[in-house]
Amino acid sequence: MKLQTLSLAPDAAGLGKAAHILRSGGLVAFPTETVYGLGADATSDVAVAKIYAAKGRPRINPLIAHVESRAAAEAQGIFTREAAILAESFWPGPLTLVLPLAAGATICESARAGLPSVGLRVPAHRITQMLIAATGVPLAAPSANLSGRVSPVTAADVREDLGGAIDAIIDAGRAQVGLESTIISCLGPEPQLLRPGGIARAAIESVLGRPLAAYATEATPRAPGQLASHYAPRARLRLEARDLEEGEAGLDFGGRFGIAANILDLSPGADLNEAAANLFRYLRDLDRQHPQIIAVAPIPEIGLGEAINDRLRRAAVKDE
Ligand code: AMP
Ligand code: MG
Repeated sequence: MKLQTLSLAPDAAGLGKAAHILRSGGLVAFPTETVYGLGADATSDVAVAKIYAAKGRPRINPLIAHVESRAAAEAQGIFTREAAILAESFWPGPLTLVLPLAAGATICESARAGLPSVGLRVPAHRITQMLIAATGVPLAAPSANLSGRVSPVTAADVREDLGGAIDAIIDAGRAQVGLESTIISCLGPEPQLLRPGGIARAAIESVLGRPLAAYATEATPRAPGQLASHYAPRARLRLEARDLEEGEAGLDFGGRFGIAANILDLSPGADLNEAAANLFRYLRDLDRQHPQIIAVAPIPEIGLGEAINDRLRRAAVKDE
């Protein structure tokens, strides 16, 4: 059934309406500091089922629950010593902790994909925090795009993928970090990086005082972002491109390819935070020019570069 997807302002009236829709089991896309999320009441199997359906997301991929505070997270997951250190250091912010399910947790089974664990995050974005508070329940929210496609950083991106399939979108401008959260599992004997993201590995290792166990490879996918083909534009990507070939569009970094209408530079000054913020936006913009191939300049594997390269490698894999 086609829905009339409302556009809501990030003000009291808009958030009130959004909270009402969410409490009634509907879907609302909302801004966070990472990317736009597609939210539903994380305590309702019926509401959460709509997320999987709207995105075409495999039901075996659990959803991150967004909560208001550390205390709200403690009602859902069991904090190990390391989890407590990480929460203390990086919440609110772009870090997701995967924890054993707490007794009395209310996050529903389908949000957990049936697992005895929960993925939890306290977002830093003021509008996200106000929405969670107004709704009064944890919000399950993956990125608000069709499964496998480029993550949305504006309300317009969300509408392009999900307009007509969800109840509303809160429009609060462009997401700042531009990359999804870093996911750390605290289920095993030592914390493990499941997905690089908005907080760099080095910052996490520095507060833990030791290196993080390597993130799972494609042989053992745990995060949907780890599945081979993800974040994919329609064009093919040619990674580590030293120069631009005839007919290609260019996703540049640090001014390597020069200036032309078919070239977008993630960061002319080679700033990885700026590059992260521009990544999904520029992939979408270049894809709109319908090139067969997008050549991507080399990105250093340091700081947020690890997460940027992770997304680019997955975007380069084609299903067919
Ligand atoms: P995203 O694609 O941004 O929605 O990230 C979802 C990822 O978070 C999952 O694929 C898992 O890696 C992790 N995650 C979320 N919830 C759980 C859970 N209940 N148990 C284990 N991992 C989870
Ligand atoms: Mg996603």
